[in-house]
Amino acid sequence: MKAAPSYNNERRRIVAEHPIWRGGHYVLYWMQAYRRLSHNHALDYACTCARELKKPLVIYEGLRLDYPWASARHHRFILEGMRDNLTVARERGLVYWPFVQTPHDSGKGLVHRLAENACLVVTDDWPCFVVPAQTKALAGRTSRRVVAVDSNSVVPLANLGAAVAAAAHLRPRIQKAFGEAFKHRSRALPEFGTVGNTGLSAPFPTWDGDVESTLRSIVFRDVVPPVKGVVGGPAAAQKQLRSFVEKRLSRYAEERSNPVPPENGAASGLSPYLHYGHLSIEQVAFEVLQSAYGTCEFEMGKSGRREGFYGSNPNVNSFLDEALTWRDVGHHWLFHRLGDEQTLKTALPTWAFSTLEKHTQDERKYVYSAEQLETAKTHDPLWNAAQTELVKTGTIHNYLRMLWGKKVLEWSGTPEEAYQVLVHLNNKYALDGRDPNSYTGILWCFGLFDRPWPPERPVFGNIRYMSSDNTAKKFKVGAYLDYVKSL
Ligand SMILES: Cc1cc2nc3c(=O)[nH]c(=O)nc-3n(C[C@H](O)[C@H](O)[C@H](O)COP(=O)(O)OP(=O)(O)OC[C@H]3O[C@@H](n4cnc5c(N)ncnc54)[C@H](O)[C@@H]3O)c2cc1C
Repeated sequence: MKAAPSYNNERRRIVAEHPIWRGGHYVLYWMQAYRRLSHNHALDYACTCARELKKPLVIYEGLRLDYPWASARHHRFILEGMRDNLTVARERGLVYWPFVQTPHDSGKGLVHRLAENACLVVTDDWPCFVVPAQTKALAGRTSRRVVAVDSNSVVPLANLGAAVAAAAHLRPRIQKAFGEAFKHRSRALPEFGTVGNTGLSAPFPTWDGDVESTLRSIVFRDVVPPVKGVVGGPAAAQKQLRSFVEKRLSRYAEERSNPVPPENGAASGLSPYLHYGHLSIEQVAFEVLQSAYGTCEFEMGKSGRREGFYGSNPNVNSFLDEALTWRDVGHHWLFHRLGDEQTLKTALPTWAFSTLEKHTQDERKYVYSAEQLETAKTHDPLWNAAQTELVKTGTIHNYLRMLWGKKVLEWSGTPEEAYQVLVHLNNKYALDGRDPNSYTGILWCFGLFDRPWPPERPVFGNIRYMSSDNTAKKFKVGAYLDYVKSL
C-alpha cells in the first residue's frame, strides 16, 4: 500500500520496517498520547490505511498502573478521557477497545498480541515520557509494520530543522511553514468510513467506563488526590476551550502574566488537556482565529516577528506565540534531544552549564531539603503559595512557575539537585506535568533557550535571576495569596 503524496507524509516515521500484512484482521491504531477521536493526524492516517486496505479499524487505548508518578490525580484525568472516548465510539459505531491495567489483570503482552493480528500498527509519535520506549519495545518485538505519526502541533516537527538554542530561532521556521501546514490540519471528523459493524470482538475484557470503581480498586504508591472540580477528557477540554475563547482571549495579551486567582486570570488553563492529548493545538488555533477574524483565511504578517504574524489582533498573536512557538520549542527540542533532558550536563548549553558549575560551591543563604520544598516550608510566602497551589490544584500560574523554578535553584545544594527536585515536584503534582514542556520549562530556569544575563551573581552566575520581592513589586499579589489560603 502506497500512501498518496501529501504534506502530512512528513509526520510519519516507520519504526518497524516489516511489510504490511494484507491478511491481517484489522488496522490497529494504538492510542498512547493523542487520547482523542478527532483532530488527530495519527487517527487520520490509521483511517486512511483501513480504507485503502478495506479492513476494519481497531482503536486500542490502554492505561498501565506503573508509569512514573502514577497517582489517582493523573489516573482520574486519563480515565475521564477514556470514558469520553468510549461514549463517542459507541455513538459512532467505532471499534474502540479500552484496557485499564489492574492489580488482578496485568494485560501483559496485550499490545503485541493485538499487533500480531493486524495488517499494520499506527501509533502516536509523542517525544516524551514512557511513549517512545513503549513504541520501541513493540517495534523490537512485533513482526508487523509500526508507523508512528506526529500530531503534536500544526507544523510537523520533522519540517522544523535541527534543534534550536532559542525560541527566536524556531519562530520564523514555524511561521514560514504555518500557512501550508494549517491547510493540511487534521480532520475535525475523521473519515471512519465503514469501519463499524465488523463482527470483531476484543480478545480481552475491555474497560467498562466506570471511573470511580476503577480508582477504588487501585492503591497508588504516590498519594496525590484528584483535583476537586477539575474534570479530564475531550468533552471537558471543549468546554474549557469555549470558555477561554469567549471570556478570556480578549484580555490575554495584557493580563496573561498577572498572578491572580485563575478565575480572574486571562490564561486559557488548556495545558492539562493538551498534555493528555484530550485536545489538539490545531483545533485551539482554529477556534482562536475563527473567533477573532470570523475566518482562518487571515492576512499573515511578516514572519520572524513575535507580534503581527497571526493577523492584527494582539491577543491572538500573543496567545498563538505561546501556544505554537513556545509549546513547539519543547516538543521540537525533545524530538531531537530525547534522553538529554535527564541531567543538566546533557541538557544545557555550554555557557549555562559552565556558569552554574563555576558557582556550585558558592554559599547559599538558604538550603531546603526536598521534603521542605514539597511541603512548602520555606521562608518565602509567595513561593510557598505557588507550591501549595501546585499541590492542591495541579497547576501553578505561569509567571510564578518561573519564579518557583528559579528559587529552587537558589535554595538547593547544587544545580543538579535543584533540577531533579523540580522535575519530581512538577511531574508528581502538575496536571500538565510529564510533558516536553515540563522539561524545557524547568530547564529554561537554568538557562536553556535563554542568554547570559549580567551581572554575574552568586549561585546563578550569568543565569537570569528572579526574586519574589520584585515579583511582589511588579504585580499585586495579595488576591493570589488569599486565594491560595482559601484552598
Ligand atoms: C518551571 C516551569 C515548568 C513548566 N512545566 C510545564 C509543564 O509541566 N507542562 C506544560 O504544558 N507547560 C509547562 N510550563 C510552561 C507554562 O508554564 C505552561 O504551559 C502554562 O502555564 C500553562 O497554562 P495555560 O494553559 O493557562 O497557558 P496559556 O498562557 O493559556 O497558553 C496556552 C498554551 O500555550 C503553551 N504555553 C504557554 N506558555 C508556555 C511556555 N512558557 N512554555 C511552553 N508552552 C507554553 C501551553 O501549551 C499552554 O497551554 C512550565 C514552565 C516553567 C517555567
